[in-house]
Amino acid sequence: DSPKRDSRVVVIGLGRFGSSLAMKLVEQGCEVLALDSRPHIVQQLSDDLTHTAVADSTDPQALRQLGVLDFGRAVVAIGTDLEASILTTSLLSDFGIPNIWAKAVSRQHGRILERVGAHRVVLPEHDMGERVAHLVTGRMLDYIEFEDNYALVKTRVPMLAVNRPLGETKVRSQYGVTVVGVKRPGEEFTYATAETVLNEGDIIIVSGRDRDVEHFANLE
Ligand code: ADP
Repeated sequence: DSPKRDSRVVVIGLGRFGSSLAMKLVEQGCEVLALDSRPHIVQQLSDDLTHTAVADSTDPQALRQLGVLDFGRAVVAIGTDLEASILTTSLLSDFGIPNIWAKAVSRQHGRILERVGAHRVVLPEHDMGERVAHLVTGRMLDYIEFEDNYALVKTRVPMLAVNRPLGETKVRSQYGVTVVGVKRPGEEFTYATAETVLNEGDIIIVSGRDRDVEHFANLE
């Protein structure tokens, strides 16, 4: 696949998720074809998105005519209409689109989308709900969890880690976490090393097992 083909994305369903995604892709320099069955939605977005069309994505003929088969990537951003979401995903799979992403509203929906050919399924509301749960109760400023309970967290530096080089603190040996980066007020993020001395008020990026980073981030 040429890079050009890779940077062409068809986005189907221009609700809140699909339209934000399509606009960000355009901002990143991708060539985006954005489709929705509701004319007024397409109309509203046509100034910001270069290629838009009104189409029912469950109609294979319509997709063919719009040249969807030439795209290397597709995102099915239809949520509420399960039937349309599933049918569209399976059509794209029949077309042989090499990289199909699909948005699901539940785990069950996600499983069906994988069955009918989605290569990657995202659960934005579910994932964001879990992420916010980590943030509302503690001191963390941001929280990203990967597989196998590994997490990356943005937080304020706890007192036990200030005014000494990181290598001399017990951050890694006792708390099992690694300080990856530091942001001082008014400065940009820099990587942390064993010699880095953190100050009160610094913002840090910490990685490690989810339980460990959470515990560490919530220390005074
Ligand atoms: P969000 O929660 O991101 O707003 P929705 O599921 O509410 O997502 O929106 C999905 C969008 O997909 C809507 O704008 C809707 O018009 C569009 N859509 C639904 N079915 C089809 C279809 N068969 N073909 C094209 N677009 C569709």
